[in-house]
Amino acid sequence: MTAVPSSKFALRGDLLDFTADPGWGIEPGAAVRFRPDHWLLVEDGVIRGAHSSDAALDASWTRIDHRGRLVLPGFVDTHVHAPQLDVIASFGTELLDWLNTYTFPAEQRYADPHEAQAGAERFCDALLAHGTTSAVVFPTVHKVSADALLAAAHARGMRMVAGKVLMDRNAPPGLLDTVESAERDSRELIERWHGRGRLAYAMTVRFAPTSTVAQLEMAGRLMREVPGLYMQTHVAENRAEVEWVRELFPQTRSYLDVYHRHGLLGKRAVLAHGIWLDDADRALLAATGAQIAHSPSSNLFLGSGLFGWRALEDAGARVSVASDVGGGTSLSMIRTLAEAYKVQALQGVKLTAWKGLYTATRGAALTLGLDHEMGSLEAGRMADLCVWDWALGAVGERRLAVATGLHERVFAWMTLADERHLAQAFVAGASRFRRESG
Ligand SMILES: [Zn+2]
Repeated sequence: MTAVPSSKFALRGDLLDFTADPGWGIEPGAAVRFRPDHWLLVEDGVIRGAHSSDAALDASWTRIDHRGRLVLPGFVDTHVHAPQLDVIASFGTELLDWLNTYTFPAEQRYADPHEAQAGAERFCDALLAHGTTSAVVFPTVHKVSADALLAAAHARGMRMVAGKVLMDRNAPPGLLDTVESAERDSRELIERWHGRGRLAYAMTVRFAPTSTVAQLEMAGRLMREVPGLYMQTHVAENRAEVEWVRELFPQTRSYLDVYHRHGLLGKRAVLAHGIWLDDADRALLAATGAQIAHSPSSNLFLGSGLFGWRALEDAGARVSVASDVGGGTSLSMIRTLAEAYKVQALQGVKLTAWKGLYTATRGAALTLGLDHEMGSLEAGRMADLCVWDWALGAVGERRLAVATGLHERVFAWMTLADERHLAQAFVAGASRFRRESG
């Protein structure tokens, strides 16, 4: 890791960010802010502004010259599982079989403190190497895995929301807690990490089938008791899963309603998937402010279904985009957006580069209540920045060479680029990744 030698630097490149939600149109309205060949000023980890030249900058500013490259705010991945790097790209199952065959066995390793620490560091470094500077993350049920993950994020200055997974039924013995142990562990972790640096704690219900009613009630109680807690879970991913929830909670109107009844929905609730929802569910999401973390590569890979983004937005509900590794097949938010485009295309909806990139940056920051801190290149935001090559290799270079207009160019990048295009990543102004080949 090469630290920046000065607390003041000016970063040269093509700056792209968003001042508001650009909507679904292809025309770059006022929400799209593209400043080609500008200098972005960073001081003490914070963005101070941008200039079209460095003429006004004295010698106290270190110049970092990435001219000809794209500078974006760091990506925000709103749903990803740290231990599941071990099971990414596992063959031949749908959700419930996938959990039992691959994921539950793999997650048991993270009871070991050495495995937990090595895994957490590997995961955080991998996020940064994919251009993701902030994430909402599941570790495992083990307290030590949550500790290791939050410590690794803290050491790198990353904004992370995470918490020990809660699961007290329907999983192997090595992955079960109890209501009492879960409450004790959660309270200790909240005490240690919640609000420390850029960290926030999330009550982390794996999904309704693996928590008893008593455990869901405990989680709801802590949500009411501790200010600023997040909640993360899964909802309505797969039809067999939805049916199982119906059997386990026969009195409840819907899968989503299980969480609502226990006080787990609100502005800081992040629910992955949300494919099999009805109008009442969409209205409930809108009313509570809870967001759906759309996970397109996971939904395609596990054959879960096609996410109805427009229906949710039309109902007033909030949507972010997530990798959901290891059901998802890449930590790259660029690849994730390319998959999101295809999921919408299958339903006759066209995801513009503006909407996609907004959702993975400023939009995610906004849905998490963190837009004052990150997600854009506004003065005053933390300098969570990624510098990308516009193209690598003959195909990308040719496509960009013949592109006319900004959207065509940026959309081709969103569709063709991947993590290999990342030249450098900064977290709070510190360089945390730099590609060796320059
Ligand atoms: Zn997930």
